[in-house]
Amino acid sequence: MRKQIAAANWKMNLTLEQGKALTEEIAQADLDLNDNRLVILGVPFPYLVTIKELLTGQPNMVVAAQNCYSKKSGAFTGEVSATMLTSIGIQYVIIGHSERREYFNETNDMLAEKVNICFENGLKPIFCCGEALEIREAGTQNSFVENQLKESLFHLSAEQLTGFIIAYEPIWAIGTGKTATSAQAQEIQVHIRAVMAAQYGAEVAESISILYGGSVKAANAKEIFGQPDVDGGLVGGASLIADEFVLIINGLK
Ligand code: PEP
Repeated sequence: MRKQIAAANWKMNLTLEQGKALTEEIAQADLDLNDNRLVILGVPFPYLVTIKELLTGQPNMVVAAQNCYSKKSGAFTGEVSATMLTSIGIQYVIIGHSERREYFNETNDMLAEKVNICFENGLKPIFCCGEALEIREAGTQNSFVENQLKESLFHLSAEQLTGFIIAYEPIWAIGTGKTATSAQAQEIQVHIRAVMAAQYGAEVAESISILYGGSVKAANAKEIFGQPDVDGGLVGGASLIADEFVLIINGLK
């Protein structure tokens, strides 16, 4: 059975002390976790090691980086490589968040390179996709997202995509308070699974965890996660509030 995942994206928020306090509060809460339910905290680079250490002894809670560079090493001032992340024991990295696509001009081709460098280094990508409001209004979201998947992932092998993580995040719902309805999330996520099945077969598609992201909060998580093709969420704002994120975690299937 594919993993059900509550992934936090802290983005560029919190001091180290605030991040530690938040992590401790979440880790000490009454979490309904098991080997099929995973919590991933996507934290800023400078906090990775500290937060990872705080999670020692929590087998179902891990940290993730929010990005990595597409090149192996070299003169790329300010960038962080996949090798650097694995060298400090990081296993997961968010790739292609819509904020990276929008503010840092990350294209589908660049993201294909990033996914490659992750696999070369044994890092597990959490691959983000999703459409802007104009695309949703034009009704072309399915083909838009399909193209994002094709251009960034379809060069990978079935083996690489087995147990892969995709986060579908409609841009119009990120940080806006506007959530896709659970029916809208299910509709496009079943399409994403069908696209992966057409390319890689049903077994691979069934193994992929497809998360929903976009204004998930305690009040809507259980209903959204209850959809058959929604395997948890990638959560921004609500992941910064311990009580909210704990309820989101406990809303996993
Ligand atoms: C995100 O950062 O990926 C996100 C979905 O943010 P929010 O939950 O705040 O909409």
